[in-house]
Amino acid sequence: MKYIDEFRAGALARQIAAKIASEADPRRDYHFMEFCGGHTHAISRFGIIDLLPDNVHMIHGPGCPVCVLPIGRVENAIQLAQMPGLILCSYGDMLRIPATNGMSLLKAKAQGADIRMVYSSADAIKIAQENPQRQVVFFAIGFETTTPPTAVAIQQAQTLGLNNFTVFCNHVLTPSAISHILQSPEVRQFGLVPLDGFIGPAHVSVIIGSQPYEYFAEEFQKPVVIAGFEPLDVMQAILMLIRQINTGRAKVENEFTRAVSLEGNRKAQSLVAEVFELRRTFEWRGLGWVPYSALKIKSSYADFDAEQRFRISTISIADNKACECGAILRGVKRPQDCKIFGTVCTPENPVGSCMVSSEGACAAHYSYGRFRENNHVAAQEN
Ligand code: SF4
Repeated sequence: MKYIDEFRAGALARQIAAKIASEADPRRDYHFMEFCGGHTHAISRFGIIDLLPDNVHMIHGPGCPVCVLPIGRVENAIQLAQMPGLILCSYGDMLRIPATNGMSLLKAKAQGADIRMVYSSADAIKIAQENPQRQVVFFAIGFETTTPPTAVAIQQAQTLGLNNFTVFCNHVLTPSAISHILQSPEVRQFGLVPLDGFIGPAHVSVIIGSQPYEYFAEEFQKPVVIAGFEPLDVMQAILMLIRQINTGRAKVENEFTRAVSLEGNRKAQSLVAEVFELRRTFEWRGLGWVPYSALKIKSSYADFDAEQRFRISTISIADNKACECGAILRGVKRPQDCKIFGTVCTPENPVGSCMVSSEGACAAHYSYGRFRENNHVAAQEN
């Protein structure tokens, strides 16, 4: 298949692996964070860790939109769904996220709430058109990749005069999360998460461009390589990061030149700027309250804002005490460090969000189980 097969070629993977092995300096370690859950999934699925020398360590980042949404926002969505007559539209993964008292959107649906699984914001618009007598709320989540389609849906609803359609907005921002990690006590103060560089997400960067990462390279002296999600993309990015470290450089490099440009997709950016504005702060699972890390709907589109229409209040709920998702999302722990990984907590019965989405680190480890015990950075090892 074009643009897939050629990026999964085994012979090429072995060539890049040989270059990584010969160029990685055996006198030092390399610690790279793959920010995005898509990369975590590719690393697990294609056994990339098995192709890396022991001194090249990959650390999972918080770039899984399902994983980082705090329980309070899921609880908000459940409460919305339980309102009489309301239809809540949600992406499939969100349905299984555990909230409080063993509840989830899926259980709320089983108890009678009208929750519809959709593949896009356009599906939610269609449901609103088909049900003019009922309120339809789209539970919008995701990083910069999924924000433009939500903006399109809001503008479309306005054009169509759909007064029964609103969006519960939970869109979050990649650069703010990377900044927060780099300034966290675990990285700066305690050295629990040694970080030498980042693999940046391709799909997000198609929208925002490579420019926003330059701040991390310059201010924190951490190289960033934007990479696609196929195994050769990830391996090439690791090689590019090693080369930067070896030559003392901290630059933003773009491995995914087939779709990412310096400035990104200007049309999508202006669409997002037209409909959304920055929130002063937003709660992330694992990272806590992160300033200017999420978007809300502008007052000019308030008619389509579920938080305004239904007066949704902020709820903060702590994670299940046994769950280590927070530490995993900060790169401090690995899935195997969780005492209930693979026993009490499985994809069929997830206790935390990292086991729900296929992009979650726990689900990736559980599904592919290819990680060598000694290859991930855990707090205990430092
Ligand atoms: S295995 Fe389950 S409970 Fe443990 S950290 Fe992962 S998601 Fe949380």
